[in-house]
Amino acid sequence: ASLYRIDGWGAPYFTANSSGNISVRPHGSDTLPRQEIDLLKVVKNVTDPKPSGGLGMQLPLVVRFPDVLKNRLECLQSAFDSAVKSQGYGSYYQGVYPVKVNQDRFIVEDIVKFGSPFRFGLEAGCKPEVLLAMSCLCKGNPDAFLVCNGFKDREYVSLALLGRKLKINTVIVLEQEQELDLVIDLSQKMNVRPVIGLRAKLRTKQTNYYGSNSGEKGKFGLTSAQIVRVVTKLSESGMLDCLQLLHFHIGSQIPSTSLLSDGVSEAALIYCELVRLGAHMRVIDVGGGLGIDYDGSKSGEADISVTYTIEEYAEAVVSSIRYVCDRRSVKHPVICSESGRAIVTHHSVLIFEAASAVKPMAHQPKTDDIQFLLEGEEEDLYAAVMRGDKETSLLYVEQLKQRCVEGFNDGVLSIEQLGSIDGLCEWVLKAIGGSDLVQTYNINLSIFTSISSHWGMGQLFPIVPIHKLDQKPGACGILSDITCDSEGKIVKFIGGESSLPLHEIDSNERYLLGLFLMGSYEESMGGVYNLFGGLSVVRVSQSDGPHSFVVTRAGPGQSSSDVLRAVQHEPELMLQTLKHRAEEVMHEEENEYKNVAACLDRSFHNMPYLATEEGINE
Ligand code: PLP
Repeated sequence: ASLYRIDGWGAPYFTANSSGNISVRPHGSDTLPRQEIDLLKVVKNVTDPKPSGGLGMQLPLVVRFPDVLKNRLECLQSAFDSAVKSQGYGSYYQGVYPVKVNQDRFIVEDIVKFGSPFRFGLEAGCKPEVLLAMSCLCKGNPDAFLVCNGFKDREYVSLALLGRKLKINTVIVLEQEQELDLVIDLSQKMNVRPVIGLRAKLRTKQTNYYGSNSGEKGKFGLTSAQIVRVVTKLSESGMLDCLQLLHFHIGSQIPSTSLLSDGVSEAALIYCELVRLGAHMRVIDVGGGLGIDYDGSKSGEADISVTYTIEEYAEAVVSSIRYVCDRRSVKHPVICSESGRAIVTHHSVLIFEAASAVKPMAHQPKTDDIQFLLEGEEEDLYAAVMRGDKETSLLYVEQLKQRCVEGFNDGVLSIEQLGSIDGLCEWVLKAIGGSDLVQTYNINLSIFTSISSHWGMGQLFPIVPIHKLDQKPGACGILSDITCDSEGKIVKFIGGESSLPLHEIDSNERYLLGLFLMGSYEESMGGVYNLFGGLSVVRVSQSDGPHSFVVTRAGPGQSSSDVLRAVQHEPELMLQTLKHRAEEVMHEEENEYKNVAACLDRSFHNMPYLATEEGINE
């Protein structure tokens, strides 16, 4: 187990048990021995054929542990509760879960349910996410926030305002200055008093992969000049009391608490300035960024590791805000965070099967048919191998391969002879412990679909056999997936290794690997990431008619309902829930109810992308 650093990245949820299998401790360190779950038994149970008592499911398989989810959520809350208490902080923590990190219906519903005792809410970044968050929060704590981030059009803003009408604690966070006009206009038309937040573009910059949108040149948020203009406009519209929340996000996987403290302190200063300017500020939302130690090294190496615990993260956030607010004599705000990765990463494991593809020979191969190529050097080669002379052996191998390529190109070597030479070279390399000992294991998986961030940005995950951990691996391998794409390979592993220690495969037994810490982003990325779904597609042919073309086929893009269905939600049911809520709230006002119902119908039916209001000029 130490070979795979399980105690580093897996604690307190994953460990190797006495049978050599991975055990899951669903309640973290509070798990009793009898509550431990043997992962191999789970996989066997769900994959065994139905007549033998199994569920007859196929691999690859994602195994989710809702208890782990609950434990993560409670750990986050109690880390902040402790920091608030120990520092005598004058307010409290009330977090939200950014649904984009994994929008799966059951995960979002679980988070709302588990977080209800401490008013845990949701964050949404686009229209279908707002729809799903609204319908889930109908069953949650009424004080839980629904933070609406992301670029917004008229429909998005209407939907968020409608959330307030339905008595969901919705905050519209301005991501761009022009969104304010929409908010002012629509809130007057819809007769709703909005709660407004704004996202500040901080100067604090993260330098890792995820931080590319932080700093002054970042893609999101308002500059100080824009913030001042927003305050002026709100004041002129008599709506400055609506501005209540300040948000920022300096990127995922913040590597250290010192960088975190810089960002939080900068934002706290802006918060205090907004208080001074007369906004009724109440909440500071520190965004996401609470990181995961994917390789268990605690090194803080970019993207893959962080140097702090959840408790240290909470301490740093609370103390930075407290320090700045105390110096400015500003009342301590409610602290919100949008931690996604930290909540859902641990609770899912991807299980897939590996089969050895190319295996070096164990015995010295026969070389009768290639004697002429060895040029009488056979004895010398064997002697070099026997005395462990790596350098000389490798030189022979190189020369042999060179001669063999030339011979094959000249047509004097057959494919059988080529095979014999390859066999001899592999044997030499194995005997001297050369690097070609690395085997290729074929895995029944698509890296593009299931581990997109590994393919797209080199994110590394712990990959471990879920059994045989009591046996020393006899080989090491790289993983090659079943797609017809040369990039469908994993050749880099945690710890900076270029191969993974693996067991020799016995053809009578399935060899099962687990890819751990994959609950955030991975599951949603391969599919409909951010819930922006498939595009509209048209087929256009040249025609001699009046327009010189004819549209021969037109397929609409996926609607919000379609993408929600793809992550297990039931749009019909959601619409019913929301209409029911509207009925309850608006039972006296029939017209108002009709408008709200029509707005909801449209939102489910339309595409998730922003709707453009202007036509196209030719
Ligand atoms: N909030 C915003 C605005 C984000 O863009 C993201 C993701 O990058 C998050 C929250 C979630 O961040 P994390 O998964 O690091 O907690």
